[in-house]
Amino acid sequence: MQRNHYDFLIVGAGITSAVFAHEAAKIGKTCLVIDRRDHIAGNIYTEEIDGINVHKYGAHIFHTSLRPVWDYVNQFAEFNNYVNCPVARYKDELYNLPFNMNTFSKMWGIKTPAEAKEIIERQKQEAAEQIGEGEPSNLEEQALSLIGKDVFEKLIKGYTEKQWGKSCTELPASIIKRLPVRFIYDNNYFNDRWQGIPMGGYTAMVERMFGDTEILLNTEYREFVAENEGIADRAIYCGTIDAYFDYQLGALEYRSLRFESERIECENWQGNAVVNYTEREVPFTRIIEHKHFEYGTQPTTIITREYPANWERGDEPYYPLNDDRNSALYEQYVELAKQEGNVVFAGRLGGYKYYDMDKAIDAAFDLVDAELGVDLRK
Ligand code: UDP
Repeated sequence: MQRNHYDFLIVGAGITSAVFAHEAAKIGKTCLVIDRRDHIAGNIYTEEIDGINVHKYGAHIFHTSLRPVWDYVNQFAEFNNYVNCPVARYKDELYNLPFNMNTFSKMWGIKTPAEAKEIIERQKQEAAEQIGEGEPSNLEEQALSLIGKDVFEKLIKGYTEKQWGKSCTELPASIIKRLPVRFIYDNNYFNDRWQGIPMGGYTAMVERMFGDTEILLNTEYREFVAENEGIADRAIYCGTIDAYFDYQLGALEYRSLRFESERIECENWQGNAVVNYTEREVPFTRIIEHKHFEYGTQPTTIITREYPANWERGDEPYYPLNDDRNSALYEQYVELAKQEGNVVFAGRLGGYKYYDMDKAIDAAFDLVDAELGVDLRK
């Protein structure tokens, strides 16, 4: 360490931390960043292997409708024109996502929006007769009343049950509310105004954001503060909030993921960056072919199979389980956090939220405003 005292100790070296450290440095504040992992960038970490930027913690596609966030990230990287158009594979059938005219045409052999709407309306009607009056009470009812039986059974049911490890009748309707349905031939997964992948990888982008900030890797928070009491005036803690309090009220639950990567001696293995495997019997949810995020032309390729996994303490927390029990527990931790002087909880883990990258940056803007008095939205 270069100093024996800093203005801020930042726990975690992900995107929230990078925004904060960058802005703090700009106004002359000192930060020390620590991270338990052996690299920066948190879950958006990319590692270059055979010239391909591999998304080590799952595919990250930047998309946003927030202009200040888009302008902000463009200071640190040039974004390419990648548009996410995932393909879904159900047994030996291939469908375009999100649900759009290409999907419907393939599924029913139809051509026009009117034909697609007629089939979907009929299937929604059948669902309504089964479900009866009132709001859909679970994900299955929600999906059936949004899109009907065929799409639900082939493209939603198996994938969702693998992803969450529960039956669609036990899952909250909210998970599926955001799935777009379109009656135009448009395979762009996101509705956002801006989209792309930082050329050269996310790690390089985050490195530029940190600039000269001092970072200690392989460093556990608890041990570090025990040995370095009073190292900073304030702490920005981007780890899990329950771990900070030593799980004194119980552990928050997550869904985890396991990744299996493979190098294959061919230029182009699946023809798309993202292929979802929607049938229940295939144990992984999707295969990522990383080179296609950056239009790579290398002679070899790297693919990653993504297996959803149960989470136990010590595993990587990926998706928070925002059900009633966990949300209530999180609120109890927030109450504890309020009594903790000089520590601010931030980021995906500190806030127990499933953030898209742009929302994480937007929340970091609030943090910068509150802690540093700098308005990044002006
Ligand atoms: N989903 C689905 N079929 C698919 C892709 C997604 O049913 O082929 C559902 C599933 O319930 C999933 C949710 O949509 O949990 C959100 O998926 P998305 O891929 O958008 O989220 P990500 O995991 O990439 O953040």
